[in-house]
Amino acid sequence: MNLGSISQGLPVISPENDPWDPIRSLREYGRHRLTSVEMTVTNLCNMRCEHCAVGDSLVLREPEQIPLDLMLKRLDEVEHLQTISITGGEPSFRLKTVEEKIVPLLKYAKERGIRSQINSNLTLDYGRYEKLLPYLDVMHISFNYTNVHDFHEVCFARSGHPVSLEAAAKMYDAMIDNACRLSQDGMFISAESMINYRTHEKLPEIHRLILDMGCKRHEVHPMYAADFAEGLPVLSLDDMRTAIHHLLDHRDPEVWMLFGTLPFFACSSNREDREIVARLRSEQKVTVRNDPDGRNRVNVNMFTGDVFVTDFAAIPSFGNIAGQKLDEIFERWLSEHPLSGTVNCFCDAANCCGPNLLVADMYYKDTDFKSRKAMTI
Ligand code: SF4
Repeated sequence: MNLGSISQGLPVISPENDPWDPIRSLREYGRHRLTSVEMTVTNLCNMRCEHCAVGDSLVLREPEQIPLDLMLKRLDEVEHLQTISITGGEPSFRLKTVEEKIVPLLKYAKERGIRSQINSNLTLDYGRYEKLLPYLDVMHISFNYTNVHDFHEVCFARSGHPVSLEAAAKMYDAMIDNACRLSQDGMFISAESMINYRTHEKLPEIHRLILDMGCKRHEVHPMYAADFAEGLPVLSLDDMRTAIHHLLDHRDPEVWMLFGTLPFFACSSNREDREIVARLRSEQKVTVRNDPDGRNRVNVNMFTGDVFVTDFAAIPSFGNIAGQKLDEIFERWLSEHPLSGTVNCFCDAANCCGPNLLVADMYYKDTDFKSRKAMTI
């Protein structure tokens, strides 16, 4: 049984209650606070997607991890911790990692009364995901396909050797079977689609397949131009806007759709940008999550103890948990790091606390967000 949704009297995760959104702690404490810790538990993966934002970190063999007790101690010290996320690579790639790292971390979260998420491709055997059922709140998967051919083309693009359609089909079927079965068993699966040059005209069809698998939430983000995705074509803002309108026109309004890291802001001088922001705010069961990276969250590499602002590692590490507390490392990021200040704006009425660093770099290189203010349409 999945206990996530009834976890210790915590409010249900819903469009009204998204504990990962940094604007909650900003409102509560009047400033950004560390409430979320993401841990990279592996750099192994059975796929090599063309868009992989951590692609450059993927390896074929990996070293020993830092002691779990140290990680748990550092989590314990985070005063306002509300969520943890576990990421990779494919976190469940090795059963040992599932049993010796992931399950204890999830148990810790459950006992402390905080929420948990894991990012997985769900293509391995059901048994390793079933082990997470009693503890996990959100199973996050990527889903950018309308059929197995899309999957084959996208997910092995960087393999360095040919992968047969048959081998890809086995994994595609496993992912769908696992998602259906876990959903039936009560797991909250949130499927994320990227808006990019491949998907932007197919999003409604992708949405329908996600619902067919029983997923409780559809997340939609623009593709980050990070790591493997760096050389891929960048979608124009016009195409992205059109894709979002099209998806909103055709989605199931009964299912939660969460947008994140969008490049559209209420402070834009472009009326079409302000209109799409307004539409997103007025749609039933649609939410726009502010970006957690560096606002309420840090990433810890479980092999080195290094602390990053995102798992993409585009910005070098700015601390290590071997000798420092996470709250202290985060405070230093906020107060001393030159990048932290660049996008640190807040418009209460627009429910916005600034752009994601990579999105700002991709589309708004010369824009000073801190001198802007949200406007009405
Ligand atoms: S918080 Fe920043 S990005 Fe958001 S609307 Fe205001 S000025 Fe624009």
